[in-house]
Formats: sequence, structure tokens, C-alpha cells
Amino acid sequence: MPVIGRVLEMQEELSRIRRDIHAHPELCFEEQRTSDVVAAKLAEWGLEVHRGLARTGVVGTLRKGNSPRAIGLRADMDALPMQEANDFAHRSTHEGRMHACGHDGHTTMLLGAAKYLAETRNFEGAVHFIFQPAEEGGGGGRVMVEEGLFDKFPCDAVFAIHNKPGIGIGQIATRPGPLLAAADRYDIRINARGAHAAYPHLGVDPIVIASQIVLALQGIVSRNVDPVDSAVVTVGFIKGGSAYNVIPPEVHLGGTVRTTTPANRDLVERRIRDICAGAATMHGIEVAVDYRRGYPPTVNHADEAAFAAEVAAEICGEANVQRNIRPAMGAEDFSYMLNARPGAMVWLGNGPGEGGCILHNPRYDFNDMAIPFGVSFFARLAERFLKA
Ligand SMILES: [Zn+2]
Ligand SMILES: [Zn+2]
Repeated sequence: MPVIGRVLEMQEELSRIRRDIHAHPELCFEEQRTSDVVAAKLAEWGLEVHRGLARTGVVGTLRKGNSPRAIGLRADMDALPMQEANDFAHRSTHEGRMHACGHDGHTTMLLGAAKYLAETRNFEGAVHFIFQPAEEGGGGGRVMVEEGLFDKFPCDAVFAIHNKPGIGIGQIATRPGPLLAAADRYDIRINARGAHAAYPHLGVDPIVIASQIVLALQGIVSRNVDPVDSAVVTVGFIKGGSAYNVIPPEVHLGGTVRTTTPANRDLVERRIRDICAGAATMHGIEVAVDYRRGYPPTVNHADEAAFAAEVAAEICGEANVQRNIRPAMGAEDFSYMLNARPGAMVWLGNGPGEGGCILHNPRYDFNDMAIPFGVSFFARLAERFLKA
């Protein structure tokens, strides 16, 4: 059973919705117009609509029969603070804002699945269509979970799609375990003792200590993390000093850490703190570490990832499904939902990504040809999970 026929008939309507959302991008927690569009469509198609979780979040619910089983399907609605470089008719009409990550497509595909399932109702139980704000750094998924998403809308499992340029149209990829990384940030402040550059013995040189710390940090991934796992420790900046003949009193450095498992995340943070504490002891000065955790790793649950791959194979054909794609070191706040409920995220092919058409690029555009695959995938996930 390939793409659902009825879904293909909805293509023109859904493309129109997608292009309208693309033309009106809104940033983190400001998705007022987008959530109005979503809520109006869901109500028009006969769903129960709940608004206000995480400010602009919308949850639509379809129920049939008395089964207590329920599935959550999630899309994100927000855009990015960047200027669009495209000149097609549906380009952004909002200066300095752009749907450069395809969340316009994700929202549209979830709407399409809601419309199809509202018409056909070939399931027993509840389908919760979760439209979240603020994926791009605002943690809208976390806020929805904290505000009781899964208490108000209990789900046995939750699934999401992210489009992926570089994977062909009509192809889906996923994997059990980590799909995306945790993204953390750190600042290290070395408070040493400044001096005349010609009299270093009268001070404690923070530039030398910063150099030792930068080199020691390189040993975390190469010597502490299991070589089969992936991790990144990057020093993004070093700030210190202002003159040829002065040893400065302080150096400030910082960067990002990416890890794909909670255990490695703890390990890397601990090692950064150890290295800085060791440097402080060695030199008799103070080294302050501010380690800030961002999104956790997006870790697919094995059974749900396998189920998603089976459904993907039904829609796209086995040859078009990758069941064990390599993890990527970007981050996603669907991770918070996967930490709360079993589930999986999949990559949906957006085409080859020609002309620089990759995510977060000013020429990016979601590919409308992917819509029927995403809608069919969401719809079939629900039908199979809630088999009547
Ligand atoms: Zn993005
Ligand atoms: Zn995204």
C-alpha cells in the first residue's frame, strides 16, 4: 500500500496551506497567526481543539470507540530569525523571519493527517495532534510537557517527522537509539593575576592556563568517551588580553558540547569541571565553570522506531526506508517528549538539497512533493497503532 489515494487528492489544498504558512513565518512563542490557522482547520474538520499549552500550542483530538489506547503525533510551527533569499510567490512577507527549517511543512502534513483521519476514522482510541511552538531554541516541546501535555492528553506513544534535504522524496530514515545530539554550552572564566609582561614571576598568567585547558579538553572525546559513541567538545572563543606588554588578569573561553547519550553528557560535563578544577589547583587560582544544558539527546525507543520503519516501508516501499541511519549532531526539542513517552522521530526526504537548499539556509524551501508521504505516514501510524 503506497501513498494513500485520498491524501493525493488533498495535495492542492495542503500545498496552499503550506505556502500560506511559509509566507507568514512567526518566531518562538509568537506563533499566533499560525496557531489560529491550525485551530480553525482542526475545528472545521470536526476535531476537539485545545489551545494555550506553551502559550501558542494547539492540540487537536480525534476519538473513536471506547479503547483507552492513544497516540500522539507532533509537528513544530515556528520559523527562524533570518532573511529569506528566495523570490518565489510564497516567500516570507515578514522581514527578517523565515521558515528555513520546514516547520511549515511539518505543520501542514500533520493537518493533512488530521483531515484524513477525521474523514475516515478507521481506528479505535484517540489520536492527539500536537502542534508545538518554539522548537528553534525556545524549548516549546519542554514547556508543553511541563504544562501537562501528557496528563491532559495521555499518549501510549508519540511520533514526529523532520524533513531532511539530501534524502530523496518518498524516502524515510530513522534508527533505534540516538537520532540527534544534546546541545550544551559552557563558559570558563580563569581568574588569575595580571602582571607586567616582562615580570611574569610576579603574576599568574591566565593565557598559559587557558592554553593548557584547551588542550586538555581535546582529551575528553579522544580519551574518555567510548570511541564507538559520538561526541563533540568545541572551544568557540577565547577572550583575554589587550596589550603586547601586559599579562591580563582574566581569560574567558566558551563553546559547545554535543553528545548522543545521557551518560556521555554527564561524563563530558564532569570532565570539563575536573579539568578546570585541576588547573585551578595546579596554579593556585580560581577557574569558574558555567555549564548550561540545552536540549537533551533525541533518543528513539527501539520498538517504536521499528514500528515507524514498518509503517514507512508500507508507504514508501522497503527500498526507500533506512532503518539505521547515522545519528546527526544537531538537536531537537522533541527529545523532551521522547523522555516522557515512548516514541520515535523520522527523517522525511526533502529531495537532494540542490542550490544550497539545506536546513537553515536563506534559500531553503520545504518541498511540497513530500507532503503526501508525510501525511500518509502520520495517518497510517495512527491507524496501525490504534488498529480497529
Ligand atoms: Zn531548525
Ligand atoms: Zn527543525
